[in-house]
Formats: sequence, structure tokens, C-alpha cells
Amino acid sequence: MIRVYLGLGANLDAPLQQLQQAVKALSQLPQSQLAAVSHFYGSKPMGPQDQPDYVNAVAALDTTLAAETLLDALQHIELEQGRQRKDDRWGPRTLDLDILLYGEEVLATARLTVPHYGLHQREFVVYPLLELAPLLQIPGLGALAEIALQVPRNGLTMLTSDLASGLAAPQR
Ligand code: ATP
Ligand code: MG
Ligand code: MG
Repeated sequence: MIRVYLGLGANLDAPLQQLQQAVKALSQLPQSQLAAVSHFYGSKPMGPQDQPDYVNAVAALDTTLAAETLLDALQHIELEQGRQRKDDRWGPRTLDLDILLYGEEVLATARLTVPHYGLHQREFVVYPLLELAPLLQIPGLGALAEIALQVPRNGLTMLTSDLASGLAAPQR
């Protein structure tokens, strides 16, 4: 089993529900076990500012899926949840699932850069990840806790479970 950390983000079509749905989908991936999910966080958009705030979280997954097979599965979930690939980078989306870390591996293929190139600069990745793995070492970058000292919170807010469920009760 390889311990993988995934970044989840959404800012369209009931983003809290999108993340809840994504967590459910992750828990059903083959050859995999969902180990933990961080709190959900509210965050400011990167890039274009004329879009809604985001909801973000980080998940820990133990898997025997190869990295690119996992990416295929994540992109399938994105599409199932209405992700439309557009030209505008960092534009609004119903769901983004990124591979932050794949064990301790460093990957640089046409489809995958791991560790994720933005991991150490994005408050909506660093702080949820710190919650799950406070002692984590990032290949090539060092201790996550040290990295976090350099990353401003930029308005990042932890959504309490009450708030999260109150804002968007999942359809059951
Ligand atoms: P960013 O990568 O800056 O967070 P984004 O998540 O919006 O932006 P996407 O449109 O979701 O970007 O993905 C674009 C491409 O990034 C994907 O087709 C995928 O092949 C590639 N990619 C490279 N490294 C990764 C990774 N670690 N996790 C997910 N996708 C990756
Ligand atoms: Mg992304
Ligand atoms: Mg992505």
C-alpha cells in the first residue's frame, strides 16, 4: 500500500456537497482505502478573482493503484461531478482532485508532477495537510511544518461540521 494525499477543491454547484460526494467516491475506489479526510476549509480563489470562494480539503488514501491509474480514476470522478475542462486556468469548477503526494515518490511525466508543484505555496493545501500529517516530510522540500511557517493563511477558514452540514445538507 502506498499512502497518497489528495487535494480536493470546488467552487460551483453547491461546493460543500461536491466535496462530500467526492469523499464518498474516493471511499469507493478499487484497491484503495480512504484513511482520513481533513476538515473542510473555505478559501479565496487563486488566479481570476471574479469567481466564488472555494471549499477545500485534503484526503489520505492508501492504495495499490499506480499513480497514473489513480489519476485516471480521479479525473473520472471529476467528470462524473460535472467538471468541464476550459481554457481559463484556475477558473471555477465543480470539483478538482489533485495528487499532492504519492508515497515518497517524485514523478515527472507528461501527465503527472508529484509532489504537486503548488503544494508548498497554497494555504488551502498546506494547512489541511498539516492537520492530517503534522510530521510529514515533502520530497525535495523538507518538513511540512517548516513550509507552513512561510505560507500566509490568506483568509483560510476551517468550516465546522455544524456549519458544513447546515450550509448544504447532503441528499440521501
Ligand atoms: P493546478 O494543477 O494548478 O492545481 P488544476 O488542478 O485546475 O490546476 P487541472 O485542469 O485539474 O489543473 O489539471 C490539468 C492537468 O494537470 C491534468 O490533465 C493532469 O495531467 C496534470 N497534472 C500534473 N500533475 C498533477 C497532479 N499531481 N495531480 C493532478 N493532475 C496533475
Ligand atoms: Mg488543482
Ligand atoms: Mg487538477
